[in-house]
Amino acid sequence: MSLVIELEAEGPQVRGLAAERAPPPPNTPANGGNGDVRKKIVPVIKPPAGPSASEWEGGKYLSMQEWLEGAEQGGAILLQPADDVRALRGRLDNAALISVDFHRIGDGRGYTHAFLLRQRLDYRGRLRALGAVTADQVHAMARVGFDSLALRADQDPATALAALGAFSTPYQGAPIAGAAAERAEAAFAARVRLLERALTELAARHARPVLATSLSAEDMVITDAIARLKLPIDIVTLDTGRLNAETLALIPETRRRYGIDIAVFRPEESAVAAYVAAHGRDGFYEGVAQRKACCGVRKVAPLARALAGRDAWITGQRREQAVTRGALAESEFDADRNMHKYNPLAAWVWADVLAYAGRFDIPMNTLYGRGYVSIGCEPCTKAIKPGQDPREGRWWWENQDSKECGLHSNGSGI
Ligand code: SF4
Repeated sequence: MSLVIELEAEGPQVRGLAAERAPPPPNTPANGGNGDVRKKIVPVIKPPAGPSASEWEGGKYLSMQEWLEGAEQGGAILLQPADDVRALRGRLDNAALISVDFHRIGDGRGYTHAFLLRQRLDYRGRLRALGAVTADQVHAMARVGFDSLALRADQDPATALAALGAFSTPYQGAPIAGAAAERAEAAFAARVRLLERALTELAARHARPVLATSLSAEDMVITDAIARLKLPIDIVTLDTGRLNAETLALIPETRRRYGIDIAVFRPEESAVAAYVAAHGRDGFYEGVAQRKACCGVRKVAPLARALAGRDAWITGQRREQAVTRGALAESEFDADRNMHKYNPLAAWVWADVLAYAGRFDIPMNTLYGRGYVSIGCEPCTKAIKPGQDPREGRWWWENQDSKECGLHSNGSGI
């Protein structure tokens, strides 16, 4: 039995005994020291061929088939991704625990199992996620009814709890189950349908709509929906020249994942050189004017080029993100740029974004798992502590009321 994080109303609790960790493999030279090291073999990480665990705190797990052949009083079932859980209808009264094995991070089949168990089979007992499970998935898991997650032997409970803390903004403590889960699921499904409808309609209404993605989780949600629905909406992004490597890595990853193009717009070299000559490369720390000048060169001017000739642009802004976005409309006319502007996630809360990320297994910036909530340029963005305002992580040396970069006329730069 490994360590388990139970999602309880008063907060996450770690229970169980840590499994013994295997010693790290010895360092060996590439190709065993023979031959051309350029031909070294790169290990490929494959999903496990079999179950990720064999035991729970009460004994051995049974597979779904074994359970159906003779349910044990108080036994536990370990479901695999390919199992058809509908076969368990009416056969779950004696189950002490059902665990769902995730063979890869964000495996949608595991979420479907949880949804079917809670919503269709009316299972009210303990439901655990194990295998390729990370702490940043926890909220999405709680939304579909998981109430605990098992740590792998290589996962440190302190690190996992810290990651849970980093996600405390969306994490709400008590798992949602029963009728509340049903309502939450229905509300979430409605939000997804509205998003799909909004994107489909605007794609039909405009000749050259474009999503300007910052590669945030919100923009990845919209990218995923555009790709799933195969909508004729172009996608552009800005490489300011000061982004984190983790953010930049999402560009090729997204292209690969969806088979779509993302046009990258960069600042004019001459404009950057002029800024550096006048203020220094990091002159933005010296004052609001210098910071806005940097944003003007690296963000606002490239965005203007990215939107040239377009008749509509789409953003991932949400009302919840900042006070200045409290009245954000789903659809508005951007008078500054003389084109329509759509904010299809305006009504979404962060929990919806995480739920979508979990359900559709979208690529996410790995910085979210390290306490970053609002991610911009590397020198102007930092991780925040649980409970801090997301704006604390951006331009933290400035007063709150100066925090805008000029991309959005509603005055918010986050
Ligand atoms: S966020 Fe910082 S580095 Fe990026 S453009 Fe603005 S001031 Fe420059």
